[in-house]
Amino acid sequence: MKVWVDDGTCRGHGMCLTLCPEVFSLTDDGYAEAISSDVPTEFEAATREAIACCPEQAIKEN
Ligand code: SF4
Repeated sequence: MKVWVDDGTCRGHGMCLTLCPEVFSLTDDGYAEAISSDVPTEFEAATREAIACCPEQAIKEN
């Protein structure tokens, strides 16, 4: 599973960091980024929850 955050859409709510801090972090600009685009298997469920809960649908999976 690979994910990335569309920084043109992210509004920095931080929901993804709350749900899966192992995969998402905030940049100095206050927007989220994927720490690693390759999500470890054990964090896939939390990452899918973050994708579903992002208010801006800014987390993309490829
Ligand atoms: S939940 Fe969505 S909008 Fe909020 S910081 Fe994460 S990616 Fe950005």
